[in-house]
Amino acid sequence: MTAIRRLAVVALVLLTAASPAILCAEPLPRATIERTFAHLRGEDERLAQTITRLLNANDRYCDRHMPASGLVLHALDMFDPDLRDAARKYFGFPSPIAIELIVAESPAQVAGIAPGDGLIAINDMKLSPILAARASAANRDRAEQILTQLPLDRPIALTLVRDTAQFEVAVQPVQACRARWEVVSGSSLLGQSDGQTIQIGQDFITKASDADLAVIVAHELAHTILNHTRRLAEAGISQGLLAEFGRNRRLNRRAEDEADRMSLYLLANAGYDWNAAPQFWEGLGRSWDPGIFRRRDYRSPSARAAVMRHEGNRIMPCCGPVMNDALWRTRAEPMLADRQISSAR
Ligand SMILES: [Zn+2]
Repeated sequence: MTAIRRLAVVALVLLTAASPAILCAEPLPRATIERTFAHLRGEDERLAQTITRLLNANDRYCDRHMPASGLVLHALDMFDPDLRDAARKYFGFPSPIAIELIVAESPAQVAGIAPGDGLIAINDMKLSPILAARASAANRDRAEQILTQLPLDRPIALTLVRDTAQFEVAVQPVQACRARWEVVSGSSLLGQSDGQTIQIGQDFITKASDADLAVIVAHELAHTILNHTRRLAEAGISQGLLAEFGRNRRLNRRAEDEADRMSLYLLANAGYDWNAAPQFWEGLGRSWDPGIFRRRDYRSPSARAAVMRHEGNRIMPCCGPVMNDALWRTRAEPMLADRQISSAR
């Protein structure tokens, strides 16, 4: 499940970089457009595979679940009008909402669903009447929301269209942590989470290795599992101009430390080497550090790496799922500034 934004501006930015023709208002070569679409879909696929792996492997540690099918949807109206004909030719779009890609080895792949198939109905609920007249990413989001809220253990009946032929398939989902995700374009963002949606920056995805991507997704998933957004709000902690001062600073930093530490277990449970996290902050992550302009509730990259190595050295991946249980239990407690969670496992 995903909510990847494929806003036209992303395509246009990349196309501008790829071809100076746009500056002269000349039509973009089809090969350039198709290369850009292929690049974007490749990045979406990498992110979808990474997030799916982490959500599935850590389901036991999440309080909220969803039936994961491995479908990644997109909508034709998410593309700029000037690019829609090209998008229709490249991606298919036999209906306004279609399958952008399928996560490898997912239930959707097992069911024989293919990228380019159009989505007509979910469990006999036709999508067309519930979509807004002026379609946008919101329509794709609505379809995803319906899929996310279905029963965890029952097959999902999907009505699809391939070329012009309509057909039905049943997908047997797997239970996973509930989270949506989307790509944020034109930003220096690494990642952020509001407790429901994980956002990852487009620029970062382009530069990140698969391991780097997993590190940031695991950090944001840890924030979600630990209910940091809600608990910090309940503690009256500011995320705005006052975030760097006094009690706000202490609790915001504590939340960041906890997410860094829990991320190691989430990585290990999904089959990643937890060392990728401190290595990220000693490598590529340093280039995202604003130095003296860094918010004071964030540690330096080297300090973050040190916190992670201290925690990670306690992980024994030999023995099945791993977790710092004391840290995990705090997800239901109020945030307390002076509390230290140090015991592992
Ligand atoms: Zn964070």
